[in-house]
Amino acid sequence: MNERVLLIEDEEKLARFIEMELVYEGYQVEMAYDGRKGLEQAVSQDFDIVILDIMLPGLNGMEVLRRMRRQTSVPVILLTARDTVMDKVTGLDSGAADYMTKPFEIEELLARMRNALRRYPQQNPSADHKQDDPANQNDVLAAGCLRLSVQRHFVSYDNASIDLTKKEFDLLHALLENKGFVMSRDRLLSKVWGYDFPGDTNVVDVYISYLRSKIDQVYKIDMIRTVRGVGYMIKDE
Ligand code: CA
Repeated sequence: MNERVLLIEDEEKLARFIEMELVYEGYQVEMAYDGRKGLEQAVSQDFDIVILDIMLPGLNGMEVLRRMRRQTSVPVILLTARDTVMDKVTGLDSGAADYMTKPFEIEELLARMRNALRRYPQQNPSADHKQDDPANQNDVLAAGCLRLSVQRHFVSYDNASIDLTKKEFDLLHALLENKGFVMSRDRLLSKVWGYDFPGDTNVVDVYISYLRSKIDQVYKIDMIRTVRGVGYMIKDE
């Protein structure tokens, strides 16, 4: 089975060269020449890997990556110019599997692609109708690089799975469903523990601290926010 690659690169000569080499290596290649089209393709089709240039017209590569991450965990290799701010690209938060600095040898790109494909195997690379399936559309909730799949009962950050208990999972689910909005302790309590729960709202604080120890502290992020006197909310990084 041919692995599917999406190449988002506005320099047409370079794009055609990479395409030719990838096709020669047996990959199935789709092309996009600007950020918006690339993003559209990345989230509406299933790819095994995406090669994404950072300097793109329309929408730059980092923004494409950020928006892609709301809907797909496909591995991404970034292409950067030498003068790009590197810490932004190489930082843990970028959500990329790897990056290449231009100019590069095609063999190195191929090697890094093989490596990324091994590390981040995709579940349904050939299922073309994912976007048409409403069950699937609502299945994955995301904030930044954090993903929660309701059906698979699965949580990951930057493609690394996170082990949560049932209550932790339900609490994270409730926060993600209301991403960007503050949830009061009472509301979280009734959503996760049920209206009849005899305990007090301190249990919410305790479970929030469990979630933080497994997510925020491990990945050095500040995703689960306390809104003083009100409750909690989750935000994109
Ligand atoms: Ca470019």
